[in-house]
Amino acid sequence: MKNRLFYARHLEDLPETGWRRVAPEPVSAPAMLLFNRELAADFDLPRDWQSGPLAVDRWSGNALPDTIEPTALAYAGHQFGQPVPQLGDGRALLLGQLRHRDGRLRDVQLKGSGRTPFSRMGDGRAGIGPVLREFLVSEAMAALGIPTTRALAALATGDTIQRQFGPEPGAILVRVASSHLRFGSFEYFAHRGDREGLQRLADAAVAWHYPDLLSHDPRERCLALLERVMEQTASLVSEWMRVGFIHGVMNTDNMTLSGETLDYGPCAFMDEFRAGQVLSSVDRGGRYAFDQQPYMAQWNLTRLAECLLPLLDEDTDTAVDRAEGLLTRFPDCFRQFHHPMLAAKIGLPPTPRVEEDAALTERLLGLMEQAGADFTNTFRELGRAAPTEAAGQQRLVAILGDRPDTRTWLKAYARRCEGDDGGPGVAESDRRARMAETNPVHIPRNHLVEAALVAAEGGDLRPAEDLLKVVRSPYTANGLPAIYRQPPEPEERVHATFCGT
Ligand code: AMP
Ligand code: MG
Repeated sequence: MKNRLFYARHLEDLPETGWRRVAPEPVSAPAMLLFNRELAADFDLPRDWQSGPLAVDRWSGNALPDTIEPTALAYAGHQFGQPVPQLGDGRALLLGQLRHRDGRLRDVQLKGSGRTPFSRMGDGRAGIGPVLREFLVSEAMAALGIPTTRALAALATGDTIQRQFGPEPGAILVRVASSHLRFGSFEYFAHRGDREGLQRLADAAVAWHYPDLLSHDPRERCLALLERVMEQTASLVSEWMRVGFIHGVMNTDNMTLSGETLDYGPCAFMDEFRAGQVLSSVDRGGRYAFDQQPYMAQWNLTRLAECLLPLLDEDTDTAVDRAEGLLTRFPDCFRQFHHPMLAAKIGLPPTPRVEEDAALTERLLGLMEQAGADFTNTFRELGRAAPTEAAGQQRLVAILGDRPDTRTWLKAYARRCEGDDGGPGVAESDRRARMAETNPVHIPRNHLVEAALVAAEGGDLRPAEDLLKVVRSPYTANGLPAIYRQPPEPEERVHATFCGT
């Protein structure tokens, strides 16, 4: 249909047992909190979907047009290592798809829109804090150039919800994603022994995300799908590590087939570097610590591969061999992204020496950990300080501590940059340019996010709006106040983030 606003690909492509039609539960006094005009422009959203009472009534779920049939998707998952045969959209509804300017469709979902058949004990709602956190952090991620779901709008519901720390104002997030297919979507059908459902889901994942694989022979196609998902996931985790991001809940139900970051719960960007840092209040064992993320990605991919076995070969042993043959390559696949990324963090181009260069960055990270150095600012400082000049070396010694290890590292780095170690060397302007585009200046620092959320709960949205402006300029200071680049004072430090479900 021409000029159609919403599409409904899930109804056509997904197994009928994998979704339920559900109407949103009305809210009492909806109001727009934040609206993402840039993103709306990507979809050529009509004016009355962007602002005004109609937009508020629609995005709150109170008055959806008849043509939209909201749908809750079923999924399962492994949560902190434990299988859960049924999860599903317990507080989210898929409205359908919008056509992006790039020609492809994107899912549009309301999160916090009321109970569904998958709500279990939950109230189907979301609080203003977690909704604004997801808005801020996902938009920061997009600006950083890292695959992610997006935030189109945040609305207050006018209702109060009960959470761990007492009553909280309710809110709804309008989320946009390439799709909401999760590793856990496959687990749902695998738990039910539904081979047909799995096949349709795999076909949907290929058609939606990797259409070039459609020309493959069907059996090869499924392994190729797994390979693509492995590559996307490896790349994504390496990108998170570039900017110091800790997802916090890398359960299989929060891992996408598209390779987009999904579900910003107790997530956080690191201030001071600690390889094993955990900030999520629910991750007591440190399963999803910063440096565990690649291992957990591989673990999750293995759960996905188990689901796909019946599609890989009729003979189980052959299917297992094929899946194992692929997944044992994960560490190499990850390194292919991670090593060049590490080298780029210290301004070095990807050369045949990339492994040694990555090791040089690893040594720097060790020094940073000992010194309690700020992850973001140390790399920016290194980008500004010529390693071969005394002034630059002084600035780094001030950050890393005046210790023999620091001096040794600085010497090795200077030799590498100058080409004194037999390597190609790197021009100072190239080094600086590469570091400036690899290392952000602005991340959504936890204490700033926290302060913005507290203000919003009290009715003041300004801090959230200001922070949004800042994180949308991740690689340049842009004349923005220095306060956005400073690590927290000891009393401002956030030691744990909460998911607020
Ligand atoms: P999450 O921790 O947000 O990834 O959610 C895990 C599961 O719990 C998903 O199936 C959610 O839909 C469900 N869930 C989380 N919060 C709520 C809530 N307030 N009401 C109903 N279901 C919820
Ligand atoms: Mg989730």
